[in-house]
Amino acid sequence: YTESAALLERARQVLAGGVSSEFRKYNHPHAIFYTHGLGSRIYDVDGNEYLDFTLSQGPLLLGHSHPEVLQAVQEYSEQGQLFAGQHLREIKLAEKLVQLIPSAELLRFCLDGSEAVQTALRVARAKTGRQKFLRFEGHYHGWLDNVAWGFSAPSLEALGERDNPTVFPWSQGLATNSRDEFSVLPWNDLALVEEFVARNHQELAAIITEPIMCNNGCILPEPAFLPGLRNLCDQYGIALIFDEVITGFRVGLGGAQQFYDVTPDLSIFAKALASGYPISAVVGKRDWMKRIEDGSVIHAGTMNAGNPTVAAALATLKVLEREQPHQRLYQYGWQLMAGLQQAAADTGQNLQIQGLGPMFSTVFTDSAPARDYRGTLANDKAKLSRFIAGLHNRGVRVIGRGLWYISAAHTQADIDQAIQTATDVLKTL
Ligand code: PMP
Repeated sequence: YTESAALLERARQVLAGGVSSEFRKYNHPHAIFYTHGLGSRIYDVDGNEYLDFTLSQGPLLLGHSHPEVLQAVQEYSEQGQLFAGQHLREIKLAEKLVQLIPSAELLRFCLDGSEAVQTALRVARAKTGRQKFLRFEGHYHGWLDNVAWGFSAPSLEALGERDNPTVFPWSQGLATNSRDEFSVLPWNDLALVEEFVARNHQELAAIITEPIMCNNGCILPEPAFLPGLRNLCDQYGIALIFDEVITGFRVGLGGAQQFYDVTPDLSIFAKALASGYPISAVVGKRDWMKRIEDGSVIHAGTMNAGNPTVAAALATLKVLEREQPHQRLYQYGWQLMAGLQQAAADTGQNLQIQGLGPMFSTVFTDSAPARDYRGTLANDKAKLSRFIAGLHNRGVRVIGRGLWYISAAHTQADIDQAIQTATDVLKTL
């Protein structure tokens, strides 16, 4: 990794922190700079090839460098930069999303997941006339001030009493302190949410949740949880917001809302929408989204819905619709999960796997599978780091906190290779 090491030094001269955030945050064994990615593979500046399950943090549902996406971006780039409200393709993309996503009647485009979350929160406030939000421990809703806090791992003691909603210490480095806007509860505990909402509904504009908790482990909602949130929100006129930045298109073309058959009022799609090109969408029921039209919600952004990024989204959705890769994503995902489970049993490792197939998490713990963020604190992070490092050094890239993403470019041979490599690594832990 000599070339990557040299580039990290060079980067540190001009880029705050030297970039390579995965390396810094998650104890990846090396800072890596890449030359290119193709299909299920990614290549670094030292000439190493990796079987990639990170997919640029999720967006590359079609794998690296899908030719149709690249071609669409190139073609539309040559037509010049047209932005939101200036070109037919934005309308076509919106029509497509309305067709695919169960709760989408009206929508707006933004640049990324973080921005779209903020728009959804504004819409919820405008419609309800209330100011506060409820969110859940360990869920990530972007890096902007009001939502960034609460994600970085606090100790169990810092979480406080289970039914004390003010649970997280402040993350450092935020520009403003707007914690009063949000209450935070443990996830998957409907009784607790019901109790809280019954007491506080007059102030609550929205409940926001990832429909599958993907940013700390990959934890599925218990069967009654999402329908329970839906009922509560109906009962009290609160917006139910699904943050589908990870689940969108990945668990199915209509997102987790289709998979679980629970319809939110507002939801957010980003990552996979355009294979990583910068575009996101906040979508919702007409009654909610029309607050943008009547001027009570400001929604702007010079770069929104740029011609080439819309092209990337249209091409991505076209390929997804044509090739219908989801059955394969699930099949390969389940195969990989089962293979890893078997490898763990054979090597006597306390590897625990949670998830759905298209994405899942691997952690090390002797405890029962986590059902919320607090449950994840039992994971052996040092062992996970050794596992991730071992995989990496044998040419398999997995997100450092133990998250695996499957793409439509993965093959049976890739799955077999990953299981074999993981078996080799588990023997060494
Ligand atoms: N919500 C969720 C669930 C996410 O996983 C992320 C990004 N990982 C975001 C919001 C923020 O999206 P972005 O990084 O595109 O701003």
